[in-house]
Amino acid sequence: MGRSAVAIAAGCAVVACVASAMMVGRRARRWRGWSRVVRVLEEFEESCATPVGRLRQVVDAMVVEMHAGLASEGGSKLKMLLTYVDTLPTGNEEGIYYALDLGGTNFRVLRVKLGGQPSAVIGCEIDEQPIPEQLMTSTSEELFDYIAATLKDFVDRENETSEPSRGGGRELGFTFSFPVKQTSLSSGTLIRWTKRFSIEDMVGRDVSQSLQQEMSLKGLNMRVSALINDTVGTLALGRYHDEDTVAAVIIGTGTNACYLERADAIIKCQGLFSNSGGMVVNMEWGNFWSSHLPRTKFDVDLDADSQNPNDQGFEKMISGMYLGDIVRRVMLQMSQESDVFGPASSKLHEPFILRTPLMAAMHEDDSPDLREVARILRDILEIPDVPLNVRKLVVKVCDVVTCRAARLVAAGIVGILKKIGRDGSGGITSAKMKPLRQDRIKRTVVAIEGGLYTNYTMFREYLNEAMEQILGEDITPHVIIKITEDGSGIGAALLAASRASSSAVGAL
Ligand code: ADP
Ligand code: MG
Repeated sequence: MGRSAVAIAAGCAVVACVASAMMVGRRARRWRGWSRVVRVLEEFEESCATPVGRLRQVVDAMVVEMHAGLASEGGSKLKMLLTYVDTLPTGNEEGIYYALDLGGTNFRVLRVKLGGQPSAVIGCEIDEQPIPEQLMTSTSEELFDYIAATLKDFVDRENETSEPSRGGGRELGFTFSFPVKQTSLSSGTLIRWTKRFSIEDMVGRDVSQSLQQEMSLKGLNMRVSALINDTVGTLALGRYHDEDTVAAVIIGTGTNACYLERADAIIKCQGLFSNSGGMVVNMEWGNFWSSHLPRTKFDVDLDADSQNPNDQGFEKMISGMYLGDIVRRVMLQMSQESDVFGPASSKLHEPFILRTPLMAAMHEDDSPDLREVARILRDILEIPDVPLNVRKLVVKVCDVVTCRAARLVAAGIVGILKKIGRDGSGGITSAKMKPLRQDRIKRTVVAIEGGLYTNYTMFREYLNEAMEQILGEDITPHVIIKITEDGSGIGAALLAASRASSSAVGAL
């Protein structure tokens, strides 16, 4: 059985179990309000539905918004930010490069040794630590002093025999995963902080310059040669290993995507200089919105209760930060309309108590009596003694939420492919020409990264299944989704290398 068949089979099995649970429930009338709970589930499932026709509407909406965001500043909820990355690694890069990664779970310093062809990372040392909590809300000087000091310690510990990169100085790629208005490949100003960081004096200031100043004070002979975000780093790493890589997608706590665009298609920046005729565009796609997205009242409530209402609408339907909480909200409504979960648990009122990894563990519980579901309901939500039929109901809610999320990501990816003519839709339609068309379809790779995608099997399977349904059987084999881990670290070093290496010019 293929991967997608497994996903369908699993989905059907859940539906069948819940249906039989419903029948048992109706017959036995064990629980007050069982039929109301069934109605909550049915309505929820219906409003989350993503038949392929609707996914195609989302694909087209994504393309329209991409055009609008490229046409003018503020033309779309998709910011379509310029990155000034116009050359990507070729695989020929050689030497030692450094990277800083700030904005993920931990702060990291990397030293990467590149061995030239064929795409050989022959050494990588990483120093990883959480940023001290008080620095997240201190001053920019304190934060960058800490970063530069950590970097200096790291460099001082280097093996004495290791040669620095060309010219005696050291090239540094800086992954800074916060919204930045880029002014060149190596500079940009902070638009705003996210993820618990809040250092007011930094907003509007140049990120690289702030770091550069602190590095000079410490006598570090290093140059920030690329300032990027994690999505761009993932694209760089993907490209380093596979020259057919055209886009990168992150699906972790949050979500974002970037891709290679023709410079002349970036209308809002006429006359943009590009060595290669192309440029990587950071879509900031978490903020995508379209009336075709299947939105439920639970999404509306989640948005209203969030720190950023009306923002990041797409992200709130698909990323790891939110999926568990949508499930919690549906369960809360079920508990308010019935006693299937027994006496009301106050835990169900607690936002984000049901983290997405827990939700995934319930969804993927393959024990016959759904032991893991029972454990999580008991230990996390303080709902003990939940009968098997009700556990199945919970699994079904998880399934609906994840299925919708994964299918919407698939539609987003196909939207990017359509925008750059890699979805096969612009091809020849005549059946007679089919073999010719097959020949013309270019192999297309999308680099993908993030804990939700890499750790959640059902999510991956639903995503693959939807890609196949939207693209059709002719195109699907030519589109490859490749897990590309650690783009935010190694990818930044690669871009520093790519800039240093003149051989990379014209590589897009
Ligand atoms: P970040 O997004 O912070 O850079 P990751 O890419 O590692 O970090 O993604 C972490 C996110 O992935 C978590 O917030 C969680 O939502 C999701 N996640 C992690 N493990 C799992 C899992 N086993 N099942 C489902 N989702 C997971
Ligand atoms: Mg990350």
